Amino acid sequence: MPELPEVETIKNDLLKKVVGSQITSVSYTSEGQKLISKAGQDLTDLLPGNKIKSIERKAKYLVLELSGGKKLIFHLKLTGRILVRNGSNPNDEFVRLVLALNDGREIRFADRNGFGEVKLIGAGEEVDQDLGPDPFEVSVQQFNLLINQTGKETIKETLLDQKTISGVGNIYADEALYLAGINPFRSPRALSTNETAKLLDSIKQVLNEGIKHRGTTIDSYRDTDGRPGTHQFHLLVYGKAGKPCKKCATRIEYTEIKGRRTHFCPNCQPKEQLALF
Ligand SMILES: [Zn+2]
Repeated sequence: MPELPEVETIKNDLLKKVVGSQITSVSYTSEGQKLISKAGQDLTDLLPGNKIKSIERKAKYLVLELSGGKKLIFHLKLTGRILVRNGSNPNDEFVRLVLALNDGREIRFADRNGFGEVKLIGAGEEVDQDLGPDPFEVSVQQFNLLINQTGKETIKETLLDQKTISGVGNIYADEALYLAGINPFRSPRALSTNETAKLLDSIKQVLNEGIKHRGTTIDSYRDTDGRPGTHQFHLLVYGKAGKPCKKCATRIEYTEIKGRRTHFCPNCQPKEQLALF
C-alpha cells in the first residue's frame, strides 16, 4: 500500500513532468466506471481545458491544483498507480482513468483491486478534514499531546490512525518503532516524553529513507514510469520474521495487532520498559 514516501515520490515525479500541461480530454475504461459513482461526479466534462498548476501531497493524497482553482485529488489506497506515458504506449494493466495532455502524453490512473479514489474538489475545500498533521510538520510537543490523547490501546495502532498523524502506514510504522526501540504493543499513554521525541525522529528518518529510495515495493507500488521503488532492500524489520535483528541478532518476531501485520525485535523493543527516563 502506498504510504507517505511512495506518494511523495509520485508527487516529485509529477512536479517535473506535468506542471504547465493542459488536460485536453478525459476517458474512463470499463473498469473505471465505478470511480464515477464513488465520487458522484464524471470528470469527462469537468477537466478538459484546465492546466495543471502545481502538485501537492497531503498525507497519502495526491493533489493536482488546476488553473480553474479546483483541485483533483487521488487516493491510491491499496494498489493504485499514477503513470505518465507517451500516447498509448506501453499498454498498462488495470487502467481506469486517462487524462490526455496537450503534448500527446497521458496521465493514467491504474488500480488492480479498485479501492482507489479520484475526486475534483473546490478551491476552498479540504482534501480530508479528519487528517492529523503531517509527520514532517508536527512539533515534538504537538506529537506528544496527540499520542497522549489517542483512544488507541497500542502505539502501533496509534501510528496507523490517520487522525493522529497522517501518512504513516504499516511498513514505516514497524520500521520507526524498531528504530526508536519501542515495543508496538505498548500503550501510547505510557511512553515518556523522551520516547515520543525519539519516535518522531525515527518516523521522519524512515520516511526520508523511503523517499531517498523512491518508495517501497512489496507488491504493487510503481513510480510514474512504472518502475518499482528500492526501499524494500533496506527494511530492518518489516517482512523479516525469523531473521536475525541487525542490532542484536535476536530473531525478529511476527504478530498481528488488530489484524495488521507487525514485526519487531523482542530484545531491542522490550514490552516492559524500565523507567529510565
Ligand atoms: Zn534486536
